[in-house]
Amino acid sequence: MNISQTPEKIRELLTPLRGQHIALVPTMGCLHAGHISLIRKAKSLADVVIVSIYVNPLQFGENEDFHQYPKTFEKDAEICKNEGVDVIFHPKNLYPDDGPNITLKISHMGHLLCGKSRPTHFDGVVTVVNILFNIIHPDIAIFGEKDWQQLAIIRRMVSDLHMPIEVIGSEIIREADGLAMSSRNRYLSPDERQKSLFLSQTMLLMKSNTKNSHKASKIIRFGIDNLKKYGISIEYLEICNELTLNPENSITPQSRIFIAAKIGSTRLIDNMPLSITTENTL
Ligand code: AMP
Repeated sequence: MNISQTPEKIRELLTPLRGQHIALVPTMGCLHAGHISLIRKAKSLADVVIVSIYVNPLQFGENEDFHQYPKTFEKDAEICKNEGVDVIFHPKNLYPDDGPNITLKISHMGHLLCGKSRPTHFDGVVTVVNILFNIIHPDIAIFGEKDWQQLAIIRRMVSDLHMPIEVIGSEIIREADGLAMSSRNRYLSPDERQKSLFLSQTMLLMKSNTKNSHKASKIIRFGIDNLKKYGISIEYLEICNELTLNPENSITPQSRIFIAAKIGSTRLIDNMPLSITTENTL
């Protein structure tokens, strides 16, 4: 396994491999079973698998956890090696010394859901993903459904900007008790970890509530009341179309629950398809 730290090095390394099917798995490191599932999907679909590990400053807001974001590169490299990853791209910085001059901006989709409290987050995400795509030129790129809004926006970027890249979504990996795996789960105290379970449990209850009503507002009200019972601070709980991310009034086969909540000082997000009769893939 090769570890490349500069765009020049990885380009040089990839030159003789052009023509093979190349997959990119972008990450911020601190790898867990969720990331491993993306790597395994990439391995099953491509000849060459590249994992990028880069904590992108541009996608963090001023008072967010950029400086605290966990860094576990040695362990990450061991995981990648064991999973048969071909190359880790681990750049120190992807922007010019005087900061990014040219960035991408998302209109509508970037201001929904997480975009309401993190107004510049998705601009930072698409800017860095665009840079990674320009350096690596992958045939396919794998993203987790855990960050569904990110996945939907990247699909839209690839489509709007005519990028010759196939974006593949990979299912959410959860702990045995239902909590969606996340590098940020390590911020949770034991009590908060226990409380965090109410997120997935509430979504499951909302899902079974669709038997009684197809009215989104009723199902959302039920979910909010349930979370409030446990003292969870909800940032949003919405039912949206999984392609457009627009809120829905009544349940359709493309309806998905989206949630963001603060448990202590840790912000967690999760999502779940509402329709049980169709496959909910993008
Ligand atoms: P991150 O390192 O948090 O930026 O995540 C890198 C990629 O891993 C993103 O595409 C995430 O959606 C994906 N990912 C993170 N956690 C999970 C999970 N629990 N299940 C599936 N994919 C995940």
